[in-house]
Amino acid sequence: NKVILLKNRPKAKPSLQDFDFIEEEKPQPKEGEILLKTKYVSVDPYLRGRMRDEKSYIAPFEVGKPLESGIIAEVIETNNKNFQKGDFVNGMLQWKQFQTSNGNGLNKVDNKNAPLKAYLGVLGLTGLTAYLGLEKIGKLQKGETLLVSGAAGAVGSVAGQIGKIKGCRVVGIAGSEEKIDRIQEKFGFDDAINYKTTDNMKMAIAAACPDGVDVYYDNVGGDILDAALQNMNKYGRVINCGAISLYNKSEIPTGPRVETTLIKNSILMQGFTVRDFVKDFGPAQQQLAKWMEADKLEYMETVVEGFENIPQAFIDLFDGKNKGKMIVVV
Ligand code: NDP
Repeated sequence: NKVILLKNRPKAKPSLQDFDFIEEEKPQPKEGEILLKTKYVSVDPYLRGRMRDEKSYIAPFEVGKPLESGIIAEVIETNNKNFQKGDFVNGMLQWKQFQTSNGNGLNKVDNKNAPLKAYLGVLGLTGLTAYLGLEKIGKLQKGETLLVSGAAGAVGSVAGQIGKIKGCRVVGIAGSEEKIDRIQEKFGFDDAINYKTTDNMKMAIAAACPDGVDVYYDNVGGDILDAALQNMNKYGRVINCGAISLYNKSEIPTGPRVETTLIKNSILMQGFTVRDFVKDFGPAQQQLAKWMEADKLEYMETVVEGFENIPQAFIDLFDGKNKGKMIVVV
């Protein structure tokens, strides 16, 4: 039974040296437990935060202990009447090929309405993050301009499409020509900016958003956030979803001072974690599924094969190697 442990707390971008691979005996389920075989593993930028020894909304990983993330696993043995052999479950599980669980915190999923992997992305936490961030903080209205960073990623690609469904002008920011073409052609974004080849993001955003920005869905923080803030309209809303451009930095850079921009334009800027809205997950997931069924919501995935490639797939998020949700199939 292969297991992946955190070996070191990375100081900058994580590398393979920060992970350890060990073999342990396959566990046996006790009374009330199930034995799970890992099928699909979600790797996510927020796991980088859990590698720091810092107090946060979720406990840090421990050095020498297995990492964990959202995983879909198959029940292969059961001593728990709530689970049958052959059921698939979704939950926060460890990076192990096989593990036991008492079933707490696991949700059953099936592939009747969508492929199982979709429950790690568009119908899972990243889709819910896009939808609930826009709904609860963005309060996006028809005819407004929505700017999205990390626009070709799991959260950003869904956020932009919801903007189109709501009848908005949607502009995306992403890190390659292929990505900016893709979000316009496949997802219907009205315009897109490649931040890696643009010198002046403030002016590029102004050009792509001639009526200004009403809602900015921020997945990256840093310089791009600074540039977006300077293009916000009166009563604009800034959704602080993520700040991936800062996750590997040991010192947080300070940006241009924009406090008068926020004041004079009465801008609301709010951070959140999707679990703040856990009671809304059911209806939100139903809405996302309905849009998928009606072909209004498309999704992309980058699927990497092999349990041993989980750490590399995670590291690749920081080089933008994924289009849409990054998933490892075991
Ligand atoms: P993505 O699928 O968007 O993958 C990460 C992407 O970030 C990469 O593909 C890359 O795309 C981009 N990126 C990497 N480094 C940088 C950088 N230095 N500057 C700008 N962009 C960069 O991941 P997710 O959709 O899962 O997550 C997106 C964001 O949302 C993250 O910040 C994450 O932490 C946050 N999040 C927040 C949640 C919440 O509850 N608040 C829940 C889930 C996610 P590119 O090629 O365009 O650079």
